Amino acid sequence: MLQHFVNGTETASANGRHGDIYNPATGEVQKKVAFASKADVENAIAAAQEAFPAWAATPPGLRAKILFKYKHLLDENADKIAELLTSEHGKVLNDAKGEVIRGIEVVEFACGIPHLLKGEYTENVARNVDSWSMRQPLGVVAGITPFNFPAMVPLWMYPIAIACGNTFVLKPSEKDPGAPLFCARLLKEAGLPDGVLNIVNGDKEAVDTLLTDSRIQAVSFVGSTEIGEYIYKTGCANGKRVQALCGAKNHMVVMPDADIDQAVDALMGSAFGSAGERCMAIPVALLVGDVADPVMNKLKSRVNEMKVGPGTNPDSEMGPLVTPQHHAKVRSYIDLGVEEGATLAVDGRSLKVEGHENGCFLGGTVFDNVTPDMRIYKEEIFGPVLSVVRVPDFETAIKLVNDHEYGNGTGIFTRDGDAARTYASRVQVGMVGINVPIPVPMAYHSFGGWKRSLFGDHHMHGPEGVRFFTRQKTITSRWPTGIRAGAQYNFPTVK
Ligand code: NAD
Repeated sequence: MLQHFVNGTETASANGRHGDIYNPATGEVQKKVAFASKADVENAIAAAQEAFPAWAATPPGLRAKILFKYKHLLDENADKIAELLTSEHGKVLNDAKGEVIRGIEVVEFACGIPHLLKGEYTENVARNVDSWSMRQPLGVVAGITPFNFPAMVPLWMYPIAIACGNTFVLKPSEKDPGAPLFCARLLKEAGLPDGVLNIVNGDKEAVDTLLTDSRIQAVSFVGSTEIGEYIYKTGCANGKRVQALCGAKNHMVVMPDADIDQAVDALMGSAFGSAGERCMAIPVALLVGDVADPVMNKLKSRVNEMKVGPGTNPDSEMGPLVTPQHHAKVRSYIDLGVEEGATLAVDGRSLKVEGHENGCFLGGTVFDNVTPDMRIYKEEIFGPVLSVVRVPDFETAIKLVNDHEYGNGTGIFTRDGDAARTYASRVQVGMVGINVPIPVPMAYHSFGGWKRSLFGDHHMHGPEGVRFFTRQKTITSRWPTGIRAGAQYNFPTVK
């Protein structure tokens, strides 16, 4: 049974509630995870509150030294973390390794915190009066994270939060909490004082406690739109700063002048990598004009040839879905697409993986002739299901993207710089790729969508992460030796 990590030690739950962790490749429950009660979460918050004053007073350069050590330990343990990800999430090992590397890059960014926290200073804003601004930590902050990047998404949050001087309570996904727990122990080994990073496992009870406890100053969430909107509204109503990065339905536009092989490669990787369980996956291809037939022909044979199998098999290009429940949900969307009248060009439902007949495997699936009124077009499926919409021209394509409720990521494939530039400028989406299918910003830029893909004002990690986890204070100072103007009843102005 996986437990919680509070005040530097593994702590058991008081109430005995727990959840199942599957091995997605076999479909069997492999471990259990304890679900925190309100009291368990309150203990974690208390530990973080207790640790806050000393941690906030620790010079940023010393905080950074611990993060340097942490980066080193993460590098050393990257294979082990990747194995944990594959075992609980199902993604193929080299994809899991990529996730770990992208997470470590945020720690590298956070190692620069002495530079990132530098304020601004003006000498003589008035005669003998100086003014400066600085950023200070918020206090105890919380992170609530999804199943699809169990190592990377928590690493988007807590390295920056704690580098800024906050203390942290993380509630990872209950589906695959092994990797975040392992990473927390490494951070303790790197020298992080107890109580600075705490992990509570669980469900709504744990989340609701974090959202309503007055000691929590800010909540960083990544997950589905339905839950994210609830987190945003509840957290804000309880006076917290909230950022909620949510669901997606990313479109890739393929223009008639695109390099067709490059576009098909991009669709394969972005629609079926990690079994489509990425918020930056491409589940919709908008094929413009006469590019549609050649793209569809190549796509169909490539999807039929794709190697699907356990993530531990080095030959597998796509692994299973995360749980039997999610498998059933994605499968039901394929049934729905057929009912709605889309053309099922490749049907992944009959796929069987030898020796893993009960695993959560689904083959790559492609729907052609999808229309915008269909639910398979509108809703996030979060599986290896690609919907192809044939559109006559660029204007129709960009209108569809802009009319969609989600606006996380998008891509355009073209050789026409003008079309690419116009697309990047006019599209109502947070992250745009030009001949790049998964335009995930590097750790030193910030990550986030628009519209119903993000509630809140800040994107995550990079400079936006530092802003989210700090607040600004501006100081204006005069020493008694300066000019004495006597009592001034007018509003102060520069003389
Ligand atoms: P989810 O919304 O089901 O769960 C996310 C977190 O919320 C988990 O920790 C979960 O325990 C908690 N939660 C679930 N139900 C809750 C409830 N009723 N009340 C309070 N808390 C609750 O998301 P998921 O299925 O784990 O992850 C997939 C989703 O995450 C997809 O929609 C995907 O697009 C999104 N995602 C978005 C981004 C992004 O950056 N925009 C990145 C990764 C994943």
